[in-house]
Amino acid sequence: TLNDQLDFVVCGATGDLSLEKIFPSLFSLYILDMLPRKFTIVGAGRTALTTEDFQNMINKRLGQLRSGKGSWEILTKMSFSEFMEKKEGFFKRVFYYAITNYNVQDGSLVGLDELLKMNSAEGPANRIFHLAIPPSAYVRVAQAIHKSSLSAVQYRHLTASNTFKDGFSRIIVEKPFGRDTPSFVTLMDALSGCFNPEDTFFMDHYAAKEMVENIPIFRFQNIWLEPLWNHKYISSVSITVKESEGIAGRGSYFDDNGVIRDMLQNHLMQILVRTAMEPPQMFCERDIRESRMTTVENIRPLTLDDVVLGQYEGYHNEDESIPSDSITPTYVCAVVFIDNDRWRGVPFILRTGKMLNERKAEVRVQFKKADNFLLGAQRNELVFRIQPDEAIYFKVNNRLPGFDKKVHLAELDLTYKKRYAGTPPEAYSKLIQRTIQGDQFTFTTPDEIKAIWEKFTPLLHQIEREKIKPITYKAKSRGPVEGDQLAKRHGFQHDSEYSWTPQKQ
Ligand code: NAP
Ligand code: NAP
Repeated sequence: TLNDQLDFVVCGATGDLSLEKIFPSLFSLYILDMLPRKFTIVGAGRTALTTEDFQNMINKRLGQLRSGKGSWEILTKMSFSEFMEKKEGFFKRVFYYAITNYNVQDGSLVGLDELLKMNSAEGPANRIFHLAIPPSAYVRVAQAIHKSSLSAVQYRHLTASNTFKDGFSRIIVEKPFGRDTPSFVTLMDALSGCFNPEDTFFMDHYAAKEMVENIPIFRFQNIWLEPLWNHKYISSVSITVKESEGIAGRGSYFDDNGVIRDMLQNHLMQILVRTAMEPPQMFCERDIRESRMTTVENIRPLTLDDVVLGQYEGYHNEDESIPSDSITPTYVCAVVFIDNDRWRGVPFILRTGKMLNERKAEVRVQFKKADNFLLGAQRNELVFRIQPDEAIYFKVNNRLPGFDKKVHLAELDLTYKKRYAGTPPEAYSKLIQRTIQGDQFTFTTPDEIKAIWEKFTPLLHQIEREKIKPITYKAKSRGPVEGDQLAKRHGFQHDSEYSWTPQKQ
């Protein structure tokens, strides 16, 4: 049947994203029996490789992941013989298509269409094209696919209701989606000339990280939380994504975009929207998307007063493509307000940067101080740690056991490693599986992306027009102290007294 068959094409198959995430995800789905029964996977790229060369490349990477590089528990847990057996089955269905150039005029992907037809099962064709290429090439490649590689109309399929249905042709594009509002609109116009809106998947993998997916569930399924989730009880919400690595190896992409476009406008905003959105009427795709969109519309456009920009020491020497006078920010701390009844006056403090002291992503909800004279309670904090090691902990005032009447800050602790067996699946595996199913639930809508760009575009243009210089910060530090000062001015309090020692079981 139609659902039994899939052609999956990765454009840019020799790149980092393809090797690190897409192929390991496809292999994981194969192991879990979550790919359609008859599938063909084609890696496409301009690098001259044979299918055998390409398979060797993937094989090497899967071997590295199995030996513990990264967090692919599914690969590390299986026995060696099972791993080898699964790879053999998988590679029977994996091919490489070398292309001189993606060219719309000369139908440069005709050969890809032929390769797919030759290897696919007879009957209806479902095709997914994952663009793992630089964003500047999205439109050209999408148009080349549209010209000669869409699911062919001759593969018509009689459905149960006696109507004919063509196979689907879906496209996945990766963030960043454009550079600002006008460029996103241009990208959207070009993509919608090639693919149906319901077949265009805007992938932001942070939205599928286990804890990010959990935030709305945790909020809306626990009755005690919702009454507190507003400006009456919450003093600030900090959303932090810290990276300990620099930008070596992808300098020209990064220097052209900067941290606001690379991280803040997409990943951190997706986390913010899920933390702040109103409860949807139903937990279905339409209502959830509508709820996210309303929240985005209520966000106040950012201004220069709301941000601190930083650049780490040594940035210019890290990659030869970076100009010595580049003022591209690698760190940002931004305060965002949501002008609605729930959040009026509550600062959302968004902080992200490269080459910081640790790799960590979290949402930290800081509550107002209990308004009583009893024993000097501290502020409650509810922390959702997204990575590494998912955890939710709630810092609560508790009587210190003993003779004295002392209160201290302790924690209610839901550490995933202690509570759940195994580690959650990689975000990419979930997103690819949902694309196969046509489930847009986790994907960002074009309206949402455009509305978010509208909040950022005036700020980005001003930073560029006025050539705003970032503050230099030490590599492997927590970033410029001005970021902490901005957070403090907006009421965030860091409690240096609190300490946490995990108890032995
Ligand atoms: P990349 O390594 O820079 O490029 C991937 C592949 O694209 C290259 O190996 C190259 O293969 C092909 N390519 C390069 N320039 C091209 C052009 N002008 N036209 C067509 N193909 C071209 O990129 P990446 O890091 O894999 O990322 C791919 C996309 O995913 C980017 O949009 C990035 O922003 C996004 N993304 C990446 C990550 C990540 O973890 N890396 C995470 C989130 C989002 P051939 O020369 O063989 O054609
Ligand atoms: P923390 O490390 O005390 O940090 C709390 C917040 O204050 C973070 O936003 C932090 O920023 C900021 N901060 C740190 N130093 C600062 C400074 N000098 N000036 C201004 N702001 C500063 O975190 P915590 O939640 O109270 O927890 C303490 C430790 O216990 C952490 O290592 C945490 O992982 C651990 N813990 C773990 C669990 C668990 O795994 N289940 C449960 C409870 C606690 P940065 O983000 O830049 O650090």
